[in-house]
Amino acid sequence: MMTTFVVDTMLGKICRWLRLLGYDTAYSTKNDDNLLLQIAETEGRVLLTSDAELHRRAEGKGIPSVLLRGEVDEEIAALFNRFSIDARIDPARSRCSKCNGHLTEISEAEKEQIRGRVFEQTYNHYDRFWLCTDCSSVFFQGGHWKNINRYMEHIRSLMEPTQTPVGPTHDHRETRPRSP
Ligand SMILES: [Zn+2]
Repeated sequence: MMTTFVVDTMLGKICRWLRLLGYDTAYSTKNDDNLLLQIAETEGRVLLTSDAELHRRAEGKGIPSVLLRGEVDEEIAALFNRFSIDARIDPARSRCSKCNGHLTEISEAEKEQIRGRVFEQTYNHYDRFWLCTDCSSVFFQGGHWKNINRYMEHIRSLMEPTQTPVGPTHDHRETRPRSP
């Protein structure tokens, strides 16, 4: 089963990335520690927080919690490593970045139904659209999506295990004294 998360209000970007990567991620705009703990506990979610005190409280209750000091690339990479998160966005798996709902792809034949819901230029330029079945937001792979993909690529590069350099394992230089 995929890990599910609940994210505090300071980590909105992480919330969006996790949803785009297909992870069920709860997010509350209310800065309410008790509510976050309750959601984590009752729904079996991992708490992601930048609040050390909240992190300690969660641990005290036996709730899995990760303390992230802001949105630092290395910490994102470490988080993804820890939960085996593949930092590759597949829109077929993505969840709505706004509400965590499920996305469904709009076929070419159904494209007409989103006319007027996005800018005319966008409508004409893109062929693939996704609709959130919960909040009805329309998504397409615009510039913003490309930026996120580029960022995920960067995170992947940080996640790659350090390779031992390939080459001779010992020194080939002649070390014995040459006989005259
Ligand atoms: Zn939605």
